[in-house]
Amino acid sequence: MSGFSAAAPDSAEAPRAAQDAALLRRIGILGGGQLARMLALAGHPLGLEAAFLDPAPDACAAVVARQLRGAYDDGAKLEELSAWADVITYEFENVPPQAVHLLEQQEKRVYPPAQALAISRDRLSEKTLFTELGIPTPAFAAIESLEALQEAVRIIGLPAVLKTRTMGYDGKGQVVLRKVEDCTAAWEQIQGRSAILEGFVSFTREVSIIAVRSSTGEEAFYPVTENIHREGILRLSRPRRNDPRQGAAETYAKKILDRLQYVGVLTLELFDTPQGLVANETAPRVHNSGHWTIEGACTSQFENHLRAILGLPLGSTALRGAAAMINCIGAMPDIHPILAIPGAHYHSYGKEARPGRKVGHYTITADSDEALDAILERYGCSSI
Ligand code: AMP
Repeated sequence: MSGFSAAAPDSAEAPRAAQDAALLRRIGILGGGQLARMLALAGHPLGLEAAFLDPAPDACAAVVARQLRGAYDDGAKLEELSAWADVITYEFENVPPQAVHLLEQQEKRVYPPAQALAISRDRLSEKTLFTELGIPTPAFAAIESLEALQEAVRIIGLPAVLKTRTMGYDGKGQVVLRKVEDCTAAWEQIQGRSAILEGFVSFTREVSIIAVRSSTGEEAFYPVTENIHREGILRLSRPRRNDPRQGAAETYAKKILDRLQYVGVLTLELFDTPQGLVANETAPRVHNSGHWTIEGACTSQFENHLRAILGLPLGSTALRGAAAMINCIGAMPDIHPILAIPGAHYHSYGKEARPGRKVGHYTITADSDEALDAILERYGCSSI
């Protein structure tokens, strides 16, 4: 990476506030996918520069931010990024613990806090935290052996979901058990890795809430968003104005923000059931279910994440109108018919087409829910 050097001190005459603002200008990001790309894009109007560490030769953030090419645990690269950046953040939670440890030693602002990453990368720690905070979860048990799995099935009942504790996303590393005889095959399928067994939640909707807490302690919450998945992959997200679960979702997200002294955007995914919300997982980062905020909210999740980690005032999380975000999986659709949809905004991530890959999204905005329903129906968007 050329032109990287530690931030030069400003002139001694500059007013203190201006000096602080000038010093907090360089954002270092671990990971260079679409989330880093959209963070960097949101930072440009704020006068921010971004650089990221990613081993991929085709990292899609490279068109809007400078890339340090290297492994996430490459000590020299991490030090280089840290020396250049004023603040470091992440676009994914599976950052190697050595990397977090090394960054912590640099006396640099690293947000969200390492504890939040550690908790959300491990489903057992995450569910344990939910329980400690009084946030409802599915019944769960730690699984380290086939015998423990059989015992947990007896206690929790069936159906149930066996999930690896770490490295699971988009439904990967998960097996649904429907009968007692499924235990052996499920245990083999996850190759005997540390896991948790969860009771199967029969939900009416999957929802998420995007919350943000600044380094100043200021907090804000976006409207509850309904999410539709297919084959474990998010397909459609739609924020709901005055959702009946808004209060509970905010209360749960706030408990997590406060307990972790969190800084940045945090996403909490929940199941809605007739008995109330049940927490599934957190993501300590901007999230796919919040992409609609770019056009659908007064301030996008990306801008608010940057504001939060820089200690700037947070922007309004209010809806501008109705919005729905549709993911483009595998390949981008032709741009012409999409832009012919009233209120459509096209986001290509510049990624090569590949089955199952998130390569872009588009958001449709409208003045009212009724108008949006009509557009989604007319253009067949809800079934994509
Ligand atoms: P996850 O990776 O935990 O987000 O799970 C992926 C998807 O699997 C979720 O979006 C749900 O549709 C489904 N799922 C996960 N856990 C459960 C559960 N305990 N009960 C019912 N469905 C689940």
